[in-house]
Amino acid sequence: MPEGPEIAREADRIRDAVEGKRVERVRFGLPHLSRRARAFDDARVVSVRPRGKAMLIGFDNGLTLYSHNQLYGRWFVRPAGTLPSTRRQLRMAIETRDRWALLYSASEIDVLDEVGLAMHPYLAKLGPDALDPELDATSVAERLEDPRFRRRGLGALLLDQSFVAGLGNYLRSEIAFEARLHPDQRPVDLRAADRRRLGRVTLKMTRRAYETGGVTLPASRAAALRRAGDSWARARHWVFARARQACRRCGDTIARFDLAGRRIYVCPTCQEMR
Ligand SMILES: [Zn+2]
Repeated sequence: MPEGPEIAREADRIRDAVEGKRVERVRFGLPHLSRRARAFDDARVVSVRPRGKAMLIGFDNGLTLYSHNQLYGRWFVRPAGTLPSTRRQLRMAIETRDRWALLYSASEIDVLDEVGLAMHPYLAKLGPDALDPELDATSVAERLEDPRFRRRGLGALLLDQSFVAGLGNYLRSEIAFEARLHPDQRPVDLRAADRRRLGRVTLKMTRRAYETGGVTLPASRAAALRRAGDSWARARHWVFARARQACRRCGDTIARFDLAGRRIYVCPTCQEMR
């Protein structure tokens, strides 16, 4: 599933294609939404915002198009009048004079007014967004002390969108590694310095992944690996998807296990349980 950084980059592409423009037509592939399409005739796109793993596209008619891609949804941007060659089902099309933004395969799509936006069950549960430039590391560290979160294992907590929105499976492994914390540790067991570091690292890794398109290694390190012949995928992470390979910091063997139903990767030395 795409994580916050991937959704944010997708939002950038869609924003570039349609924001500020008047739509000629909005089309829906889901029958229960088709009757809402006329409400968008001549409306202007005023905002394209990622929120957690959802996309919010706001219009000057007061309506917002909500979509969540889940596992299969995929956005395409095409010159007006052209469609991508795909066997997927078109679910939503935002058509402006020169560019079309097209969402395929996603099934979670909704048309929301201001109240609907405020009451939406997924959005209402979301914590602050890791990619929100207003969010600082201190606030994240303080959330770790919140009674809702302080006794949860870090491995489960880092996937909980009500803690910080936008983190997903590869970020969870990479953040725990960079913070030198074992995913079984709980915020309540950490020293204040560990919580502060975890707060900083959470934002740093998510923002880096946004800037690089999913690479969590420092840029210089990833570039050196590429020069030495590694593929993009192999020069991407500290530990994620690197089971039985050597830790890039200490040389110990990276272990994989399942936590909260998803795979997680840990260096037993760098992330020793304290
Ligand atoms: Zn290590």
